[in-house]
Amino acid sequence: MLFWKKRTAPSQQQYIQQALKDNVNFSTDSSLGYPASKLDPKVFSTEAPFLKDAPLLQVFVSNPNNIGCHTCGTSEKAFKGTQEIEVDVLNMIAVDIFKATPNDFDGYIAPGGTEANIQALWMYRNYFINEHGAHPHEIAIVASEDTHYSIAKGANLLMLEWLKIPVDEDHRNIKENELEDIILRARSYGKKYFITVANLGTTMFGSVDDPTTYSTLYDKHRITYKLHIDGAYGGFVYPFSNPGSTINFSDPNISSVTIDAHKMLQAPYGTGIFICRKGLIENTLTKEAEYVEGMDLTLCGSRSGANAVAVWMILSTYGPHGWFEKISVLQMRTLWLCKALEKKGITFFREPYMNIVTISAAYVSEETAARFDLVPQKHDPTNLWYKVVVMDHVEIDQLTLLVDALDVTMVMPL
Ligand SMILES: *Cc1c(COP(=O)(O)O)cnc(C)c1O
Repeated sequence: MLFWKKRTAPSQQQYIQQALKDNVNFSTDSSLGYPASKLDPKVFSTEAPFLKDAPLLQVFVSNPNNIGCHTCGTSEKAFKGTQEIEVDVLNMIAVDIFKATPNDFDGYIAPGGTEANIQALWMYRNYFINEHGAHPHEIAIVASEDTHYSIAKGANLLMLEWLKIPVDEDHRNIKENELEDIILRARSYGKKYFITVANLGTTMFGSVDDPTTYSTLYDKHRITYKLHIDGAYGGFVYPFSNPGSTINFSDPNISSVTIDAHKMLQAPYGTGIFICRKGLIENTLTKEAEYVEGMDLTLCGSRSGANAVAVWMILSTYGPHGWFEKISVLQMRTLWLCKALEKKGITFFREPYMNIVTISAAYVSEETAARFDLVPQKHDPTNLWYKVVVMDHVEIDQLTLLVDALDVTMVMPL
């Protein structure tokens, strides 16, 4: 680990206090030009005694704006301290977790995985236009049918066709023959550039797409593509449960990733992380953003520096070993559930390195689904699956009750 270290609470506090000193202080500095200030002191006290021991809340009240991208070019001077914390935390994630070369990536903490995914699609669309002279109608998005709907949103916004690749119903892996047919057909009607999104954990099944399924096929047919990994859900799970994973920047075909800190990491909402190799993010430069110092390369504008501090604190509190242990416990509970289901002869899907178990709806009565708040694949009568996500608060005591409630004698016709 080059950047990611465990830190005590006092050491974190000291580091964060220094970052706040490096930011503009709206109470004491003469700062006249920004449409920004600390949170309204009439409503949110700066003097409340509990703030002393709560560094995140101190940052929250001081309300820093981490607008822009801080891994390249110059940035707004007023929030230098919290921008540096953002770069620190991006280093931990990009280099130590996703095996990027130090100083060879760009990224930012987006409002969520949706934006991080759309940022990737937008960046590659412009890359193909800028670097290959592509016409937008020659560019397609490729992703499996289990892909998160943020890709559909992005396709709609960017007016790109999404080639939806079917997956096997029981194993949730990409049907390779159909992938080949779809790509060759698309090429025959004029698609030349393929923005591909591989899932590092789908939202419903936790299934993981093998990125080499795509790259091998593309190489075989000499197809031009860019590969993005959607690790919004699994980005803080899979690299720890499967330390030999190559779904990271060690694979030269992978150019970017999305990782949500506000899912598995239990960070506050507003912490979707976008990371890409150097030399790509310039494709989303908005030249008109003249009042922002440095370049604005991000989809959102203003965003809170407190979010970067929150993610930094979580990673610093656990350290790499602590986080590995936490994921290992979730894996053990997931395995426990799978064994209990097998024993009862209940059909389910589980990707071995993930903490989602998706149970065939045939064994789940409506009462059981409601009692345990199980999430269906579809909110209509054609639903075939319900999922259990083994999060921190999901313990074996509750899983036992669920297994008891699943009755194999009442298998429902689907
Ligand atoms: C949750 C999720 C997203 C979207 O993330 P938001 O943070 O809700 O915008 C994208 N992809 C996957 C796989 C997800 O699980």
